[in-house]
Formats: sequence, structure tokens, C-alpha cells
Amino acid sequence: SVPLSFFGGIGGASKLGVLVKGSNYLELLSKVDTVVFDKTGTLTSGTFNVVAVHPEAGVDPDYVLSNAAYAEAFSDHPIAVSVRAAYSGVIDQARIADVREESGHGVSARVDEHVIMVGNDKLMSEHGNSWHDCDLTGTILHVSVDGEYVGHIVIADVVKDDAAQTIRDLHAAGVKRCVMLTGDRRDVAEAVGAQLGIDEVRAQLLPADKVSAVEHLLGLERGDGKLAFVGDGINDAPVLMRADVGIAMGAMGSDAAIEAADVVLMDDKPSKIASAMRIARKTMRIVW
Ligand code: ADP
Ligand code: MG
Repeated sequence: SVPLSFFGGIGGASKLGVLVKGSNYLELLSKVDTVVFDKTGTLTSGTFNVVAVHPEAGVDPDYVLSNAAYAEAFSDHPIAVSVRAAYSGVIDQARIADVREESGHGVSARVDEHVIMVGNDKLMSEHGNSWHDCDLTGTILHVSVDGEYVGHIVIADVVKDDAAQTIRDLHAAGVKRCVMLTGDRRDVAEAVGAQLGIDEVRAQLLPADKVSAVEHLLGLERGDGKLAFVGDGINDAPVLMRADVGIAMGAMGSDAAIEAADVVLMDDKPSKIASAMRIARKTMRIVW
């Protein structure tokens, strides 16, 4: 039988907006020594703003932005939302066909007679398109039309208010390792990691690479220590399931992530992880 105090722990957590899907997760949560975070939407707001458009010589910046907005017309990715928001024109969906979203890469679509691609270095190189960066301050979206590079768009995200304090709280609570995984570029990832005091940053990862990274960490000798993964995206479901404790951001998170998770943070605040761990430890002490 489950001790009564377990329900007290789950109830206490739910009052804080932390949904724990079973009493066994309280026990696991109380033993967490490694916390692995996804970057976008988890440690950062996930609301990108377009900060610059850099067309190639002789190309109109509006041409770069409008093509990107058309290609991103049907995507739910935060990057797509930001590109559409920056484009002031109307998107005529009837002109768009053959839309393909490649996770961790970007999108391609046919607009009228032209093939548009919008995404990162990986997308461009895998389709044999050339590109070049001239701005290293943000997340970069390359844009090509019929295989020809027309320019790039720089977008920026902001770290959540309570993210740095959360990392400090977790370290103070005895968490040995805070790790950040992202599909974003290395320089952006390292800047965010340094700003937040993250112990270890892994960048340019595809969804499958995130699973391998977590499996690697799970394989390290940690005694009784458990690993928690925190994410919000559709692509995060496999990692959420692989971790000892999968924690999803519930407010902005995808249904797939919420379903795959063991713990759901209803208001998307990373600080709630530290609160949940505190409650879990208190509960376990009462139980023993
Ligand atoms: P994260 O790992 O930070 O949560 P994702 O795995 O969702 O990010 O995406 C990783 C990278 O893939 C993005 O930084 C971007 O370069 C590219 N990407 C993914 N989806 C899109 C899209 N819809 N449009 C353009 N680029 C995209
Ligand atoms: Mg993500």
C-alpha cells in the first residue's frame, strides 16, 4: 500500500502547479543528481524576435523575409511563429505546396514555381546549398530559393527570468550536474549556458542525439542518483520517456511532451523543478 504522506506530497506539489503523475516519481525526484534541460522553450522563453535580415548583395531584404514567411506558413515551431510575425504582408496559402518540416533542420516548401528552404547549416548542407554567416549573435535562419542562397535572418530568444536562480538552487540542493541540450548553434548555446551557470552544454543536436546524450549520462556511475530531463517540444517525447524522471513544461508545451512526461510544470517556470524536488525530499523523509 502507498503511504498516505505520498498523497500529501503530490497534493503539495499540485498546489504549486506541479503535476506529479505517480507517487513513485516523488521518490525518484528526491534522488535526482543530474538535471538535463532542453534550451528553447524550457530555459528560454521560446518566443523569438527577428533582430536582423541580411540579404545577399543585390537582394531585397523583404524578398528574404517574405520567402521565409511563406515557407514557414504552416509550422508550429516558435521560429516559424516569429518569422511570420516579422513579415508585414499577407500570406496567400493557395500559393504554397509540398511543405516539409525536417526536425532539427528547418522547412522546405514550394511557393508558386519556386522551392524555398529555411533552416540551419545542416539543412543547407544536406540539400547541397551554399551559405555563409556574417552575424554570430543569434540563431540564424538561412534562406535559399531554388538552391540559390538569398540571405539569412537573425532571431533571438531571451532566457526566462527564473532560469539562472533555478540552476543556483539546484546546485545548492545537491544536484551535481546541470546539462543543457539544444539543436541550436554552438555559440548561442554557450552564451546561454554561461549566462545561466550550466555545467555542460551540448549543441547542434538532432532529436535522436538528445536521446543518446541522455543515455550517455544515464550510463555514468552515479550510485543511487537519478536523472531528470526537462523539455517542452514534440521532439522531446523520446527523451522525456528515457529519463528517470521526465518533466514537461505544461502551458506552452506540446501534447506529446505532456503525455510522455512523469511530472508537468503547469506554468512553465523552471524554478518549479527546485520546488518539486524540495517537496519530494520532504515527503520521502516523512515516509522513511
Ligand atoms: P531546441 O533543441 O533548441 O529545442 P529544435 O530541436 O526545435 O531546438 O530546433 C533546432 C534547430 O533546428 C533550430 O535552432 C533551427 O536552426 C532549426 N529549425 C527547427 N525547426 C525550424 C523551423 N521551423 N524553421 C527554421 N529552422 C528550424
Ligand atoms: Mg525544443
